[in-house]
Amino acid sequence: MRVITYRQNGGPVLTGVVFDQHVLNISSWIESLPVSREAHAHHLLSGTPAPAEGIMRWLQSGSQAIASLDAFVRTALLDPKLNMERLDSVQLYAPVPRPGKIIGVGRNYADHAKETGVAPFENPRIIFKMASSVAAPGAPVTRPAGVLKMDFEAELAVVIGGYGRDVPESEALSLVAGYTILNDLSAREFQFDISPAQTTFAKSMDGFAPMGPWLVTRDEIADPQTLDVSCWLNGVQMQQGHTANMLFPVATLIAYVSRFMTLEPGDVITTGTPAGIGAFRTPPVYLQPGDHLRFEVTQVGSMEHLIA
Ligand code: MG
Repeated sequence: MRVITYRQNGGPVLTGVVFDQHVLNISSWIESLPVSREAHAHHLLSGTPAPAEGIMRWLQSGSQAIASLDAFVRTALLDPKLNMERLDSVQLYAPVPRPGKIIGVGRNYADHAKETGVAPFENPRIIFKMASSVAAPGAPVTRPAGVLKMDFEAELAVVIGGYGRDVPESEALSLVAGYTILNDLSAREFQFDISPAQTTFAKSMDGFAPMGPWLVTRDEIADPQTLDVSCWLNGVQMQQGHTANMLFPVATLIAYVSRFMTLEPGDVITTGTPAGIGAFRTPPVYLQPGDHLRFEVTQVGSMEHLIA
């Protein structure tokens, strides 16, 4: 299933499932979901409220989330009076518009590690992007005044669907709700030209995390290490990688991060980028207003946006 967050004609923000270029609104069903026992326990401990609505509410239903959505959708589609909007008539947001955290991974592809000229890391290099950097799929991203080295990074992003601490690698993929595409935009001058590097700042400017167009539920992708990850800039292919070449596969990343911090529903792990980014080209290629970017991950879909 392809789960979207969207809005129509300036109405409220809704959650839907895409079928054949149409959208099934699942917002009312989501609001009827009980708060799961694990969500309740977690929020008692943390003192924070459990998500009340939208895709975050669905994701907190944990291991049951996909099966219960599937059952609801099968029944809904049998209704002869069912009215679905056309996908091209709605305004898409990122599937998770405001994740609790976005966990990035530095140099996680063998080919990209090689082009950076340093030996691969022994453990994942964890980088964060602030949640406020998320942009809707298709929305233009403005290059901030004063940034001249804006760069793209095509990435497979993993959306977490439950609470996980000390998750064994063998069980890690069951904590995944689904997969999406993320462009890990970066202002390289803050990453490479100053000391100490300001990597989080370089990757967290407004709009620097275009994400979407939807979350493909994990039942549709048997093995996340079998996907092509590609990027085109103004129609020219810049990146073509394969998730089999990740140094730390998705399951390893989940196991590693969850040794230190609880993964929560809606958290996003953006899994690193393959070779071909602008900064390591000769001469370097940096994004300019008017540039058009397109990203594709096989079995997930494609996303494009302009630089303004
Ligand atoms: Mg990255």
